[in-house]
Amino acid sequence: MNAGAASEAQLQAARELLAQSARVAVFSGAGLSADSGLPTFRDPATDALWARYDPTELASAAGFAANPQLVIDWYNWRRGRYAAVAPNAAHRALAAQAGLVQITQNVDHLLEQAGAAAERVLHLHGSILYDRCHDGGCDYREAVEPGMPQPLRACPRCGAPLRPAVVWFGESLPMDVWHRAQRLCENVDCLLVIGTSATVYPAAGLIALARECGSRIVVVDPNPSAASDVADAFVRGAAAEVVPALLDGLELVSNPD
Ligand SMILES: [Zn+2]
Repeated sequence: MNAGAASEAQLQAARELLAQSARVAVFSGAGLSADSGLPTFRDPATDALWARYDPTELASAAGFAANPQLVIDWYNWRRGRYAAVAPNAAHRALAAQAGLVQITQNVDHLLEQAGAAAERVLHLHGSILYDRCHDGGCDYREAVEPGMPQPLRACPRCGAPLRPAVVWFGESLPMDVWHRAQRLCENVDCLLVIGTSATVYPAAGLIALARECGSRIVVVDPNPSAASDVADAFVRGAAAEVVPALLDGLELVSNPD
């Protein structure tokens, strides 16, 4: 076996758990999109975004108040990177499972670009493809073309600054999406966790919730993590390599009739 490649035994154990499960959901993080060339946030490798940038300056309401231009520049840089990437083999394999509902912490839309139905992808942390009004009482939103970055500008409805429609540190998750994700995790037989270090709460709490409700946990990740520590099956490897082999021939569903 190559260094870093998933072992056949790990893969088979994970496939068996998935095949035995009537209801499966996916919970993904930055590791899913890393193989498309989008950097992760906490990977021990040096490319991790939070190893180079201070999250409280770039991804918080306080940081935006202190230096809105810096925050907008940073998100435009990330949008520029996103405009240049494409879904990888893991996105495609997941999108091909039309019966799956996918919970993701990713603010990219690579799952949808790979063909996943938008209503079956739950974006816990919002979307980088939209800007929204920073005033919580105003629901103005607009789509942003990632290859055409927009400057710092005011909401046309109320004059407050517009900002990326993502969830920053210290902010609440979108409640409708969060409640759907919770209900799903309470009712699955297996939660397939892909490429997340499971350190950002409340999202990471979905793994504990699923376990408490009797679900098995299958984890795919290049590195051991808080998620792999509690996994019933851990397949060590990159998402783009492992996920297509893991799902090949399986037909997984989240909500059987
Ligand atoms: Zn507004």
